[in-house]
Amino acid sequence: MPRSLAGILFTCPGRPPGTAAAAPGPPLACAARVTPPDLDDVRSRARAAFLGLALGDALGATVEFMTPGEIRAAHGVHRELVGGGWLHLRAGRVTDDTEMSLCVARAIDAAGGWDLRGIADRFVAWMRGGPVDVGSTVRKGIRRYMLDGTLAGPPNEGDAGNGAAMRMVPVALATLADAALLERCALEQARLTHHHPLSDAASAHVGELLHLAILGRGKPRLRRASDALVARAPKLAFEPYRGLATGYVVDTLQTVLHAFFTTRGFEACVVDAVNRGGDADTTGAIAGAIAGAYYGEEQLPRRWLRRLDRAVRQELEALSDRLVALSPLGRGD
Ligand SMILES: [Mg+2]
Repeated sequence: MPRSLAGILFTCPGRPPGTAAAAPGPPLACAARVTPPDLDDVRSRARAAFLGLALGDALGATVEFMTPGEIRAAHGVHRELVGGGWLHLRAGRVTDDTEMSLCVARAIDAAGGWDLRGIADRFVAWMRGGPVDVGSTVRKGIRRYMLDGTLAGPPNEGDAGNGAAMRMVPVALATLADAALLERCALEQARLTHHHPLSDAASAHVGELLHLAILGRGKPRLRRASDALVARAPKLAFEPYRGLATGYVVDTLQTVLHAFFTTRGFEACVVDAVNRGGDADTTGAIAGAIAGAYYGEEQLPRRWLRRLDRAVRQELEALSDRLVALSPLGRGD
């Protein structure tokens, strides 16, 4: 990871990284606003983000491609990890959202830093291994890399799916708390398979919300970030909520933001997202990651954690700690 990009958290806006202590000038008021984060809390929230992603994925997979009415008829309110769905999963099994995020995390962990080609190679190995589900844009992007070795496809109108935004947890963890590094890595990992401005914006924003939540910021601060995103990209406006939860990244992000900002508590947020149906595993995964980071480990339902695939849970916890340790924040840059 480039050290030159590190250090933004402890500097005041407008200053170059690394100049906070030596720079002249008061900014006493500025310094007073900056509170070093509690690293134990950061590690715990990071774990909750990664586990929340998997829990939302496993919960949502049961009702993927169903309508809200079909979900009500079959489950009432769907709120248990029971497996099934069109993929016929066992209870607690995760899908591509979590598996691809694990590919990203393993590549960063193995390289001891950002390794885009390592991520691409792990995507290839994952697809060759016959995963339970692969999105069409993801498949196209991985095939392109296999054929020509390029780490980004050309901009494409058809690339506005949610398959890149769903992989943001390990990127956010490994870039704590460097906003510029997060943005760069978010776009690089996204464009391995999806090259579209809306995918870019959504991926970066999911990362931004994860950073803020993991650093313990309050909901008004996260809301300001989402409002600023909407000001930059009005297509992503999520109020009034249109009730669409498809794999189009606009629908996905609207469903996630609506669920997060209109509910209280981890379970309520994830249940709200997945009961919209559609691409429910991915809306559940992204909502679960943000809500996990925000509400913390203690709010992850124990009955869900008990059902989550044990090997996946253990690897998510271990990788989460290691990615935070590798991040600019964890290294004390
Ligand atoms: Mg999936």
